[in-house]
Amino acid sequence: MRLRNLLLVVFLALPFLLGAARPDFNKIGDESVENLSKYLQIDTTNPPGNEMDAVKFLEAICDREGIPATVLDSGKNRGNLYAILKGSNPAKGSLMLLSHSDVVPADAKYWKYPPFSGKIVEGQIWGRGALDMKGMGLVELMAMVAAKRANLPLERDVVLLVVADEEEGADYGIKWMFSQRPDLMKNIAGVVNEEGPGHLEKGKLTFWEVRPGQKGLVWLKLVAKGTPGHGSLPYANSAPNRLIRALYRIQGWETPIQVLPEAKRFFAQLARNETGKRAEQLKDVENGLKDPEFKAWLTSVRHYNAMIRNTISITQLEGSNKTNVIPPVATAMIDCRLLPSEHVDHFIHELKKVINDPEIEIVNTDVYEPVPASTVDTDLFRSICGVIEKYYPGALVVTPYSRAANDSRYFQMRNIIAYGFFPFAVPEEELATMHGNDERISTANVKKGVEMLYDLIVDFAGKK
Ligand SMILES: [Zn+2]
Repeated sequence: MRLRNLLLVVFLALPFLLGAARPDFNKIGDESVENLSKYLQIDTTNPPGNEMDAVKFLEAICDREGIPATVLDSGKNRGNLYAILKGSNPAKGSLMLLSHSDVVPADAKYWKYPPFSGKIVEGQIWGRGALDMKGMGLVELMAMVAAKRANLPLERDVVLLVVADEEEGADYGIKWMFSQRPDLMKNIAGVVNEEGPGHLEKGKLTFWEVRPGQKGLVWLKLVAKGTPGHGSLPYANSAPNRLIRALYRIQGWETPIQVLPEAKRFFAQLARNETGKRAEQLKDVENGLKDPEFKAWLTSVRHYNAMIRNTISITQLEGSNKTNVIPPVATAMIDCRLLPSEHVDHFIHELKKVINDPEIEIVNTDVYEPVPASTVDTDLFRSICGVIEKYYPGALVVTPYSRAANDSRYFQMRNIIAYGFFPFAVPEEELATMHGNDERISTANVKKGVEMLYDLIVDFAGKK
């Protein structure tokens, strides 16, 4: 072989000698946009869910790419998808890319484009689930496709898990997986799941949230009873009057402030965006809160307030259905969110003291016990930060609690590391479309998201 030919061969083989060649992300990005559009067209409104068609659609992509994948039937036309790229050292623990395929209902008459159209217009893909969270699920899959096509040498297993029923209790989804297929839920080094986007303001990234925990949830119904009668002759102790007095006391209850390590870290992270006294107070928030002025400011910001205390929102009220009828029963629903250190029973005990009326009945309608947050002192968290830094240099990463209850809790309660990390930077007005109208994601976010998650796989699960 002539020297020139030899050099050519070496040059062509170089990427393989050094590891995988960079996948063709232009091509994979375009395919991702097409695939997401199709995925969004499969109606998985939960209830009833009917996620089977959606996971079969994803399974077909895995089959075409040679990624081993299994659909796990959880009954009633519902199912979960498990796909895996094997690493050389599975004992190190897997990277699990988690998503749910069900979506919340959407009312087409409030949407600019129909919610199951998957329409691609002016650089955006429209549809229920674009952000929450078929968009991310598809991007997770396509990052694995990229790894597979590039023959990326892996040390850890990389697992894709797409579950049903996240929006309605998880009985056919993640809970089913843990109870029916515990063999597949073992030896997980870390889970990447929904929530935790980058926030854009006027096209500029303000901060990136990676969410390592979530608050507990308890929804309570307060029931007041009294003698019914004609509205022209009031009772001081009518059911609505009792209920209103109870609610008034709840509304005035300043739940105790408790600064857990997650909150301490979160406020210290925020200090970077401030100067002077406020920066100092954020850096040491426990000390800062001794200053009434600082405390008043911090607790006036709803997101900050929710980081340091249990919160209560009065949301539903019901009494008579006629103006001149005093009803025998009046009810209110309250939505309480509890810090990871709280216990539901203890919280209700304290609430009863505040209500101070033994005749008001308290009924639990939904309860998610608080779970411990994941530590951020992990290689996975460092990999996530590295990826954000690569694509958005200088980005401020903050680690608040999730805003809602999501499937990460079923890992966190088992002390398996789980983070909310969306590989998308999204303007606030688009984040607000999750569970709202006109949900959509930009094609740019989809394409970049695939590359970001691919780099996460390389960094956390790839051979070093
Ligand atoms: Zn979701």
